[in-house]
Amino acid sequence: MARKLVRCPICRKPVSWEGNPYRPFCSERCKLVDLDYWLSEDYRISVPREILEDEEEVEGGEV
Ligand SMILES: [Zn+2]
Repeated sequence: MARKLVRCPICRKPVSWEGNPYRPFCSERCKLVDLDYWLSEDYRISVPREILEDEEEVEGGEV
């Protein structure tokens, strides 16, 4: 059989490439884990630390 197997990048489980709607992941769960990882990573990068620190200063100044 020439079934191509790929390893799920999240849980490292070997999964079939053909007929797998979640490829390269083994399941919808692992696909969502990966999506969540990239979304949180993007969020962290798009919010510069300076802005967060500045907000903290403003809050402290009001007290
Ligand atoms: Zn998986």
